[in-house]
Amino acid sequence: MIAVLIAAALALTAFLAWQAQAAARSHRRAAEGVLHDSARFAAGEFLRRARNVVDHYALFPVIYVLSAQERASPGGGFPDREELSRAGRRMSLGPLVAKSLFRLNLLTGSVSASPGTPTELVQWAGEKLPALFAERSAIQGELRAQPVTLAGNPHEIVYGVSPDAAHICLAFDLDTRDLAPLFERVLLDGPLLPGSADGGPAVPVSLELADAWGRVLLRRGDPFNPAFGVEKRVTNLAEGIFLGMTLKTSVPAAAAERLVIGGLPRSRLPVVLGILTLAAALLGAAIVLARRERALAALRDDFVSAVSHELRTPLAQIRLFAETLLLDRTRTPEERRRSLVIIDQEARRLTHLVENTLQFARAERGTVALDLVEDDLSRIVRDAIEAFTPLADARGVRIAAKIPPSVAARVDSAAVRQILVNLLDNAVKYGPAGREVLVALEPGADSIRLSVEDRGPGIPAADRERIWEKFVRLERDRRAHAGGAGIGLSVVRELASLHGGRVHVEEPPAGGSRFVVEFSLAPPALPANALAARREA
Ligand code: ADP
Repeated sequence: MIAVLIAAALALTAFLAWQAQAAARSHRRAAEGVLHDSARFAAGEFLRRARNVVDHYALFPVIYVLSAQERASPGGGFPDREELSRAGRRMSLGPLVAKSLFRLNLLTGSVSASPGTPTELVQWAGEKLPALFAERSAIQGELRAQPVTLAGNPHEIVYGVSPDAAHICLAFDLDTRDLAPLFERVLLDGPLLPGSADGGPAVPVSLELADAWGRVLLRRGDPFNPAFGVEKRVTNLAEGIFLGMTLKTSVPAAAAERLVIGGLPRSRLPVVLGILTLAAALLGAAIVLARRERALAALRDDFVSAVSHELRTPLAQIRLFAETLLLDRTRTPEERRRSLVIIDQEARRLTHLVENTLQFARAERGTVALDLVEDDLSRIVRDAIEAFTPLADARGVRIAAKIPPSVAARVDSAAVRQILVNLLDNAVKYGPAGREVLVALEPGADSIRLSVEDRGPGIPAADRERIWEKFVRLERDRRAHAGGAGIGLSVVRELASLHGGRVHVEEPPAGGSRFVVEFSLAPPALPANALAARREA
């Protein structure tokens, strides 16, 4: 159920993220569209102005000079370079850029070329000019141009009808690179794009014009940026000299601020992906936590039934033998004594169990506090063994002790007793009946080692760490009859660490297991006595 809810939340988050991403993408597309349109507008504006300037300052003057010459002496010669220069200066234009000159008489169909014109160009003019003029005869008063490559040389042929006599067609070839100064002049006329609506400075435009042979005639501004620009190859005959040329225009991304309200939106993808990942991680964590919570709840249920079971066994024994005594069913004083011993044993077992459970509950709430005092550890250990002996006897287990006469340490005697009883209880419970359990106390340089060793089945190496966790019981013991709630060792570890000590389990050479508690000789400076007042009974 919880997994379904979490999956739904994740799907919802993913949907929201997708929506946000789609909105950002369409916003960006719209903004990019505005930038493209601006670049296209700038390209159109440049071509329109450049066409006027080139026609006016470079192309028509040549046609006029040719026309005037024809008018003065019809069918006569062509002006030479010198005359063209003079005429240009007369019109305050500088030298005219024409190279070879041509004339076509539509009435006679004859084509003539100026002296010095390369033969391939003369041949081309004879073959192609009549057709070109026939094509454009409907459009009077306009100049057309045609890029041609002859014998490997580029020629830009400009042609138009004489303004004086409609049957005289005039043409000349030029080098497009000679027009470059005029293109510069186009830009002096003012910015190609208007400023922003609020009267800010004009948006700069990057511009690159290349002729039909790829030779760059004009380059302005930043390098061309195709993301925010257009590349246009001129194919329209009506564009005159620009036919076959390529014009690239783009606006800088920084200009977006001025062209698009709010500027060019930045990609939200990293943020969206980040949020999505975070949401997935949080939901994953929620699943893990929920699983762990459920596992813990199951363990707790096991624990409650195990404790109830543990309590029931000694209580039944106590009631049975108390009744025996009450009803005077014992025959000999020996039997009487045995019943009392059993009652005493089981009462001790109960006390121990209850103490462990309380200790565990305190540890869970974090309210355990020790009463650390300078004490004789040897005496505490001996007392604990003595108190435990009747329970060991009942299983026929003998407890051997290797304890120095006296070892001073700052400890909580009740806690040490509980540690030892828990370890002895396990040794007796899991070790084989009728065998020996060895308790050893060994003072070292900076710690005191307390160990309990048995010849039982031992702890597999893989379980030696986790065995100290609460509720953890080995599978073999979970299945077997041995009672237990899985909190004994966790209580041992808790009490040892409150002493600033550590615990571990090892395998003695003779087999079985050895549980070791190492008390540090410099226990932590706990406000132990102050907290002791809060200790529960
Ligand atoms: P329990 O109440 O089950 O004894 P403990 O925390 O004291 O809980 O022990 C945890 C588990 O460790 C036991 O269930 C048992 O599987 C294993 N264990 C503890 N002591 C011994 C031992 N001396 N020999 C073998 N196994 C042991």
